[in-house]
Amino acid sequence: MSGHHIMRRHPRPTGPRRRPVIALLSALIVICCAGCVRFPAPESPPPIAFAANPTPPGAQTNVPREPVPDSQSCNATQSLRPGPMPVPGQMPIRSTMADIIDRGRLIVGLDIGSNLFSFRDPITGDIQGFDVDLARAIAKALFDDASSIEYRVLSSAERTQALRDHSVDVVIKTMSITCDRLRDVAFSSPYYTAYQRILATRNSSIDGVDDLAGKRVCAARGSTSIGRLQSIAPRARLVTTTTWADCLVMMQQGQVDVVSTDDAILAGLAEQDPWVQLVGPGLGEEYYGVGLPKGQDDMVRFVNGVLEQLRADGGWQQMYDRWLSILGPGNGPPQPIYRD
Ligand code: GLU
Repeated sequence: MSGHHIMRRHPRPTGPRRRPVIALLSALIVICCAGCVRFPAPESPPPIAFAANPTPPGAQTNVPREPVPDSQSCNATQSLRPGPMPVPGQMPIRSTMADIIDRGRLIVGLDIGSNLFSFRDPITGDIQGFDVDLARAIAKALFDDASSIEYRVLSSAERTQALRDHSVDVVIKTMSITCDRLRDVAFSSPYYTAYQRILATRNSSIDGVDDLAGKRVCAARGSTSIGRLQSIAPRARLVTTTTWADCLVMMQQGQVDVVSTDDAILAGLAEQDPWVQLVGPGLGEEYYGVGLPKGQDDMVRFVNGVLEQLRADGGWQQMYDRWLSILGPGNGPPQPIYRD
């Protein structure tokens, strides 16, 4: 037995197997001898050529005009008043919630690269974060089982369309409630208030929006951050990417100077790279809501009922303390304004 083991660990080289070894040795000799040959020193040292880092797929510098994010002119943050909450597993017949129960799972559109809100834990493989906890609370209220969820990965630019074509039941992805988006989708009451800010490297001279003229500023396509940048920093050179993580990579590779979006998202990027930091004051408010297909008033009221419960029983605060405490103690959940 033991002899067999030794044979396996040290197989006797047979004739044909020796040939690659000989070839390798002769190659080494050639390389060594080449190293011995002395070439005359060049007049001046050759320029150092660094291999250029590729930009993330989908990065673009041609950025069409986007609307300035506006939630005031149409009272966008008002949402439908919740009614009495049905018992989990027993939804009113012919309701949107009953259809979801019949299917057996809630289909949630989110991102898996947004640290703190929705990201895949590299060790466990689980999708988690503040937005995921909210999705689980909705699933729990529907099924009495927080894990009855199917996740669909969406980029910022895919959120509205996924709701329009009903490929998801809800979008829970740091999605700001705006008048513009309300033309295509519905929203819950706000569950979080963020402020657009700037993320720069620690050695950067940029510390506010006034320093952005001529600078390369990264934002994800389909986000409200672009329209605000175009209006408050018209001379910035915008670069758009598919995801916020792509913006961080571009900054790390020196391909953009800063990233600008919601403080909550930037804090998640900063947590992944100690060499970057948030700078400057808040540039504008962003009210996050659960996105829903237009016309599903029963489901909007149901989600608002879940948010009511989370505000009342301390669940929201627990979610904040678990994921977002790096943003400071916070001001608690935003208070809803309802219409009937
Ligand atoms: N809150 C902004 C938005 O809804 C940025 C968030 C994101 O792109 O995920 O557009």
